[in-house]
Amino acid sequence: MHVDLHNHTSLCNHATGTMEEYIIKAIEKGIDVFGFSCHNPMAFDSKYRMRFEELPLYLDSLKTLREKYVGQIEILSALEIDFLPQFMEDSLFKIPLDYRIGAVHFLGDWGFDNLEFIREYAKRDINDCWVEYFKAIEMLANSGKFDIVAHIDLLKIFKYFPTKDLRREIETTLKAIKRANMSVEINAAGFRKEVGEQYPSREILEMCYGFEIPITFGSDAHAINQINFKRKEIEALAKDVGYTKCAVYRQREQELVEF
Ligand SMILES: [Zn+2]
Ligand SMILES: [Zn+2]
Repeated sequence: MHVDLHNHTSLCNHATGTMEEYIIKAIEKGIDVFGFSCHNPMAFDSKYRMRFEELPLYLDSLKTLREKYVGQIEILSALEIDFLPQFMEDSLFKIPLDYRIGAVHFLGDWGFDNLEFIREYAKRDINDCWVEYFKAIEMLANSGKFDIVAHIDLLKIFKYFPTKDLRREIETTLKAIKRANMSVEINAAGFRKEVGEQYPSREILEMCYGFEIPITFGSDAHAINQINFKRKEIEALAKDVGYTKCAVYRQREQELVEF
């Protein structure tokens, strides 16, 4: 079974193509379970996300497509929610979704994965950034609000790697993820960025396997030609590490399926 649970829509203002075009492409590529997980609305960084008023349109479009393509592809509903406690509105967690992807794209108010703000790296201690980043992922897991961790080592996006060993910090974070019964996605977007590889690194993926943390797959598509991106590579990597199953979610119920 081929699973792709992380995909955006043009509602976020930085993706192209219609939702239906995404589905047609996903069917063509042989994907069995496809999830839309567009960025959550919030009163911060609002330029790069849907507005609260657009949520009904998002959910209605999902429902319509799910019914239209039943039997051809299973379509799941989700949001990729920024873990920013001061901006996560309670209402987000009342929306009936199949799953919630939790993501950290900000350290404080710095959008570290956005090329617009890359100069900030020069002003910071990169090891401190990494420690802060993994701490944020740990808190995301401890919040108990999420099913999947998005791109777990996103901070490597522009190749600002840590210069000290962070295994201990990573292990603490992975233990929190395990306790929260969450999965970690293998996200192909890194192949399209400067870092040139999936999130997470093979090393972190092996640690996840060691902790028996389930995985799932996401192309993080923001355009039609990004759907199914590097699927063969990420599935092969997961198998090589030892995984044979990946997580899918229906009404926030996790099921492990063979891939
Ligand atoms: Zn995006
Ligand atoms: Zn993301």
